[in-house]
Amino acid sequence: MLLRFSDPIWQKPRTATAFQSLFPAGQCVDVVIVGGGILGLSTALHAARLGLAVQVLEAGEIGNGASGLNGGQVIPGLKYDPDWLLEHFGLERGEALVNFVASTADTVFELIRDERLAVPFVRNGWIQAAHTETALKAAANRDRQWRARGADVRLLSGTEIATMTGAQGYLGGWLDRRAGVIDPLAYTSELARVAAAAGVKIAERQNVMQISKNAGIWHVSTESGAELKAKAIVLATNAYTGGLLPGLAETIVPLHSFQIATAPLSSNLAAAILPEGQAVSDSRRILVYYRKTADGRLVLGGRGRMALPNGPADWAHLERALLRLYPALSDVAIEKRWFGRVAMTPDHLPHIHEPEKGLLAVVGCQGRGIGLMTALGERIASYLSSGDTRQLPFPVSPIRPIPFHAFRQVGVAATIAWYRMLDAFER
Ligand SMILES: Cc1cc2nc3c(=O)[nH]c(=O)nc-3n(C[C@H](O)[C@H](O)[C@H](O)COP(=O)(O)OP(=O)(O)OC[C@H]3O[C@@H](n4cnc5c(N)ncnc54)[C@H](O)[C@@H]3O)c2cc1C
Repeated sequence: MLLRFSDPIWQKPRTATAFQSLFPAGQCVDVVIVGGGILGLSTALHAARLGLAVQVLEAGEIGNGASGLNGGQVIPGLKYDPDWLLEHFGLERGEALVNFVASTADTVFELIRDERLAVPFVRNGWIQAAHTETALKAAANRDRQWRARGADVRLLSGTEIATMTGAQGYLGGWLDRRAGVIDPLAYTSELARVAAAAGVKIAERQNVMQISKNAGIWHVSTESGAELKAKAIVLATNAYTGGLLPGLAETIVPLHSFQIATAPLSSNLAAAILPEGQAVSDSRRILVYYRKTADGRLVLGGRGRMALPNGPADWAHLERALLRLYPALSDVAIEKRWFGRVAMTPDHLPHIHEPEKGLLAVVGCQGRGIGLMTALGERIASYLSSGDTRQLPFPVSPIRPIPFHAFRQVGVAATIAWYRMLDAFER
């Protein structure tokens, strides 16, 4: 998705391969995966390792979706804490789910290590920074629940968080040492490289226009005329979901997340700001998240306008947030501004749908998709290979379009404005 005012910091190496590999039209493959982001590629890699013949079709280039545009914060868990998951899903499924979400960051860093992926990373934790007493209490509650499960987490005092972030305005916070930061485009590109090496055929610029089923076999047609037959299809299109499966796009709210990157920081600033390289998200309703890159820039992101940006002014709220945290950056240039789409579901959980046998759709990354979608891909592949639903950490659910979905932009814009006002009062 190349847009005039979107200029991401993450760049593919010039030597990165273009993928144009298609199975012959007459051959019936085991799985066609629509979407070449982290979910599609992780599913493909693991399915190929389980002996399946897999075709990935990507409408643009690998990494054009959220997977190559994101903040690169690899954070385990979900919005919900373990106790909530147990209460909501029951003891058995809840326990399995807590163990699954606890391990999603491990899955990413183990994949980088075991597959020797050329991905710049720092694994030194994620800080959830609290700016109110209420947020501190929530952090203490989260800390208690994860520590009881042996997770490497701890609370941070006001002094500690000031030293670790160099930022102003936090009362304290929570450090989750299971987390880290990566270059997300390098990760997505490397996933594609190892998937192709494992036998997956990947074709870019293949926008899937139609899927249909005939005599138990799926038929897939792309805009550029490719025709494929498959035993199963996985829709891994997430926030970029179109009209392929009726009702699916209406089950999510695709939000825009905007990001900015500074010029490389001077050695003095770099020593004062995130000296140990953690990732940070704050506790505001409209939160900002930030981290440093391998070349010493500060990357900060947050919610952006729902319409497409018109110019740099559409990132001005993030520049203000940056200076509120780090007044010393007032003379440092903002060199990059970009955005991507995040898929939110009303219950803030990823959804797995299987409306017909052999047709799977997975949507709703909630902004934690690097770990979540990597780990889910592995489980989806096991399910495709075994048919055993116990492989799926989340229950398969019916496609339930959100009522009044067509008016979502108005609702989201109004909610964001209201939350911004509440956040401003709490400053
Ligand atoms: C700005 C931003 C910052 C974020 N920050 C973080 C972060 O710090 N940490 C984190 O964990 N998560 C973060 N996220 C979320 C994370 O990026 C996503 O959860 C994750 O990348 C989703 O992966 P995916 O493979 O499901 O979807 P995507 O990467 O979006 O891939 C979907 C792909 O499907 C393709 N597609 C759509 N329709 C078709 C079609 N008809 N035919 C063929 N292909 C099609 C699209 O082109 C796209 O490439 C962020 C997201 C954004 C946008």
